[in-house]
Amino acid sequence: MKYVDYTRVPIKHFDADKRVKTLDMETLVPYTLDEVVAESSRCLGCGLCIQGCPARIDVPGYQIAMASGNIEDALKINFEKLPFVEVCGNVCPHPCEDACILDDNKGPIATRHIKKYISENLPDYKEVLKVKIQDLGGHPSVAVVGAGPAGLTTAFYLSINGIKVDVYEATDKSGGVMVHGIPPFRLPREAIKKEADHIISYGSRIFYNTKIGKDVAFEKLTNEYSAVYLSVGNWKPTRIKIQGEELKGVYHALDFLYRINNGEKIDVGSNVAIIGGGFTAYDAARISLRLGAKRVAMLYRRSATDRPGYPSSNADEELEEAGEERVIFDWETSPFEYVGENGRVKTLKYWRNQMVDTGKGRRQPVPLKDREYTIEVDTIIEATGQREDLSFIPQDIAEKLATTPTGDLVVNQYNMTSYPGIFAGGDITNKRKDIISGVADSGRASMGILLYLKELGKITKVPQRLTNYEGGPYSTTCYEMEEKDLPILSPNPTVIKY
Ligand SMILES: Cc1cc2nc3c(=O)[nH]c(=O)nc-3n(C[C@H](O)[C@H](O)[C@H](O)COP(=O)(O)OP(=O)(O)OC[C@H]3O[C@@H](n4cnc5c(N)ncnc54)[C@H](O)[C@@H]3O)c2cc1C
Ligand code: SF4
Repeated sequence: MKYVDYTRVPIKHFDADKRVKTLDMETLVPYTLDEVVAESSRCLGCGLCIQGCPARIDVPGYQIAMASGNIEDALKINFEKLPFVEVCGNVCPHPCEDACILDDNKGPIATRHIKKYISENLPDYKEVLKVKIQDLGGHPSVAVVGAGPAGLTTAFYLSINGIKVDVYEATDKSGGVMVHGIPPFRLPREAIKKEADHIISYGSRIFYNTKIGKDVAFEKLTNEYSAVYLSVGNWKPTRIKIQGEELKGVYHALDFLYRINNGEKIDVGSNVAIIGGGFTAYDAARISLRLGAKRVAMLYRRSATDRPGYPSSNADEELEEAGEERVIFDWETSPFEYVGENGRVKTLKYWRNQMVDTGKGRRQPVPLKDREYTIEVDTIIEATGQREDLSFIPQDIAEKLATTPTGDLVVNQYNMTSYPGIFAGGDITNKRKDIISGVADSGRASMGILLYLKELGKITKVPQRLTNYEGGPYSTTCYEMEEKDLPILSPNPTVIKY
């Protein structure tokens, strides 16, 4: 007799033909409570997944809680490390699942889908967490630049420790790329609003439409606040710089997604080509279908097995979901010219690539230029990456900020830059460039900021833990800190790169 069924509870998808008709119909059918209990009961409790998670969330802890239907504890366990449980329940690339010991056998535990159930079935986090604001003997002010997931996570952990937080946000909304980039059919807007509102409810102030460097000088922050957290994300588009890029109908994906997610209607015509193979390319492709395109092709320079995120269950899921909606994949291609008619793009010219093993990391695409290929297009969307724009930092401070050879900010293990009191996290510092990594940066930075404030004498003690939920701590992986860590924060030019 079998006591435990180790086969994964299948995650069903809503009908692809129906979902491409709207911008907000979700893809995945939520689990029922019975399905969540069955799925979380498969967990062996080995803990491998904790190492897979950038924030080291106690994943087995919330499986054990859910196996007995204890949804409130499951939420509190997540909240020891993550104030965006519903966001991550929808769109986390779930590297924990790739580490799951059951991955090669009957399928990894569906940790993300379980998280989605937990968060969606608890509408009032405040009521569940019963946060006790810690008294650290002072209420200094900290400025956060950018209200994306990284900035808001820092606002959360600092405000529940009695720190006054002012968040400066260039746009009119909280959420960063979650709200301006990721489409609603993958991430419902109510989820972002619920979690951002919950964070702000602990007293942080957000100044919208306030771009640092334009509306407020950066020096105001360094002069008036005890510490500054930079979480401005990557908002400067990287173009591929080929002939015809200025034609009408050619967009960078970031601009395209921003405009659609802010209510603009764009006529993409029938034939759309997307250039790129990451998160952004998939979103641009799937949105184009929802805007009425009949044929959407994704052109990527590497092969399917060299695409971003491969191998991972998230990369498989992206491909499957887009494939169900009939996105066409054209691997190993290098576009080299866009040709227009009357100022509007009409044809995309490309070469096929040969993949060459250089012995250094992923295989490199080398275009075979002896033969040209063309496709007719009405719209081209370049999802070819984006970078940080730190031009708002004055020269005298920028000179003291250590950077990597590729221009990324260098931070220590508490995410402090080489300029004392300026911390940084999210896409501008981490390599993975996803929400959970930005959240993890912000947890470390929140501890670092508290240690720094203690060093400055602005607070009289640091808390034992970042969180203080009634009856907690709920997980052994919660953020614990000790004053003995203090010297680490002294200005140090040989800061550690994690
Ligand atoms: C299309 C797309 C899809 C993605 N899909 C996923 C996914 O499915 N799962 C996942 O985990 N990750 C995904 N990502 C990555 C994820 O969105 C980012 O890793 C994450 O949003 C980074 O968080 P952040 O807080 O560092 O920056 P951001 O989210 O970029 O937020 C930065 C904020 O700072 C503001 N800002 C910038 N400059 C200034 C200034 N000078 N003054 C004031 N405010 C400023 C911006 O307006 C913005 O609100 C996706 C990214 C893209 C582009
Ligand atoms: S790796 Fe898989 S089986 Fe092991 S504790 Fe994590 S979720 Fe459970």
